[in-house]
Amino acid sequence: MIRSFIKVNSDSHFPIQNLPYGIFQPKGTHAEPRVGVAIGEYVLDLSVLDEAGFFDYTPVKGQNVFHQSTLNPFMEMGQQAWKEVRSVLQHLLKEDVPTLRDDASLREKAFTLQSKIEMLLPVKISDYTDFYASKEHASNVGTMFRGKENALMPNWTHLPVGYHGRASSVVLSGTDIHRPQGQIKPPTVSAPEFSACRQLDFELEVGCFIGSGNQLGNPISVNKAEDHVFGLVLVNDWSARDIQAWEYQPLGPFLAKNFATSISPWVVPLEALEPFRVTGPKQDPEPLPYLKNNKAGSFDIQLEVYLKGQNMEAPERITASNYNYLYWSIAQQIAHHTITGCNLNPGDLLASGTISGPERESRGSMMELAWRGAEPLQFENGEERVWLHDGDELLMTGWCQGDGYRVGFGEVTGRVLPAKKLEWNEAVQEVR
Ligand code: CA
Repeated sequence: MIRSFIKVNSDSHFPIQNLPYGIFQPKGTHAEPRVGVAIGEYVLDLSVLDEAGFFDYTPVKGQNVFHQSTLNPFMEMGQQAWKEVRSVLQHLLKEDVPTLRDDASLREKAFTLQSKIEMLLPVKISDYTDFYASKEHASNVGTMFRGKENALMPNWTHLPVGYHGRASSVVLSGTDIHRPQGQIKPPTVSAPEFSACRQLDFELEVGCFIGSGNQLGNPISVNKAEDHVFGLVLVNDWSARDIQAWEYQPLGPFLAKNFATSISPWVVPLEALEPFRVTGPKQDPEPLPYLKNNKAGSFDIQLEVYLKGQNMEAPERITASNYNYLYWSIAQQIAHHTITGCNLNPGDLLASGTISGPERESRGSMMELAWRGAEPLQFENGEERVWLHDGDELLMTGWCQGDGYRVGFGEVTGRVLPAKKLEWNEAVQEVR
């Protein structure tokens, strides 16, 4: 097992095997944002390494891709550049390589404690697509909305269902979310009313960032699809279930999903996940040829969700799921997305859809955990939850467990703030 000269605990998410990319800025300074990788408790500043000439034998030489406020210029360079930069970084950080280890003044400039930096949104997201790739999630939701007999729509096992989401409201972990408002129509009333959402939910997802795209009119084949993937992040697809229930037919989610989607700040390279590659669930019926992949397309990523209410002393775990429950792979999603000729661009975000497993504890949304209100979640201080309350903080985390190390995603957090007071909606009450 390779090790770094930077001390990394065995439960740290950021050993030398990971090296996720992010955009950071030293706290309380006006220094320009730049690209860094996480290693243990530190961030390594790639703009410093670039200036020192460490990437001179890679395709990024002279491209100025690390003195940037987004990862996009680096992502656009494509897989060969990502591989070469990663290999330089892994070499420089090794415990037996003295170049950086023994250069005190360079180390001083290149490493900053993560507690002394501020992370920024890593990518300028051009388009956001959200899939619906967990069979357990789709079946649970289908059962609740349409009954057990019609739980899965007939197309679901033939194609990766998805919808085009909203890129403008993707926010960084730590951003507070105001409870959305809109039209709802509870089953007990005959006409819709205007209200703060009363059924606010989260969705546990993993998102994939497209690095290099494709030309309009030229689909990406399923076996080449992963070459276009720069890396993965955790995603919380906040959802307003009561708004959704009233608006979703016939064209699917609209305002129920467009108010906020949170992502984690570190983008984990696909290459770092390679040792954790696994075969996903058996696909039956067999997919059409354009969706048939000749290699295992899933990853063993453990995922957890924690909730902390205002009056709770500590966050409590409400979900333990795994990425490998997903029925449709990233490669299949990309092949399907582009089969019409649709072009993906650098910085596009493709989210997996809620990741639910077969057990109650592995369900990836509040709606499923509390079965749309029928089975409230119990917390240690005696409180219950059916939907999210104002003041609740959600935390999602995920990692791959190696032998003595973890390749992790860090976390994505977000707190629910009360609905904003609007001019036609004088009294805004706290929703619990
Ligand atoms: Ca979703």
